[in-house]
Amino acid sequence: MRIVQLGDPILRETSKELSVEEIKSDEIQQLLLRMKETLNGIQSISSENGNALSAPQSGTAVRMILLRIDGVFVPMINPVITRKSEETFEFDEECFSFYNLRAKVTRYVEVDVSYMDEFANNQSITMRGENAGLVQHEIDHLNGIFFLDRVNGHENLASIDHVLKDSPQRLTKVKEMIDYMVG
Ligand SMILES: [Zn+2]
Repeated sequence: MRIVQLGDPILRETSKELSVEEIKSDEIQQLLLRMKETLNGIQSISSENGNALSAPQSGTAVRMILLRIDGVFVPMINPVITRKSEETFEFDEECFSFYNLRAKVTRYVEVDVSYMDEFANNQSITMRGENAGLVQHEIDHLNGIFFLDRVNGHENLASIDHVLKDSPQRLTKVKEMIDYMVG
């Protein structure tokens, strides 16, 4: 399986922090490479997808996430949200671990994140809008939290078969993507 699917207990674990030595280890560098390959594989099926993934979804419960920001991979290790805007927005979310479900989730419009990069250098970044939503979703994974846990009112929850019932071609693409993740 390329992406761990809902039901696997690893997705509910609190992932482990990584030391500088561990970040530089072959094991973690290989894991990061696999995560990049997975996101590239997803993007090759659907160009607007493949922008964010967490390590536990790749089968290792360590505090590492991978985002693609403006087309560039940004690995974030031991990420911590150090500031949240007061303003929130409703973000349309999906998750590679249960891709057949969609929902709107309330997220902060802007967050500051401190993290270490893949060379174990300290970094910080301010993220807004969609990128802010993505990083909040991925950091949740490191704490065993799904966007499903944050859905306000189940009337917001929908199956992709329903959402795309009038777009059979897009639905076919989604099924192809799901096959890739599970395969
Ligand atoms: Zn997810």
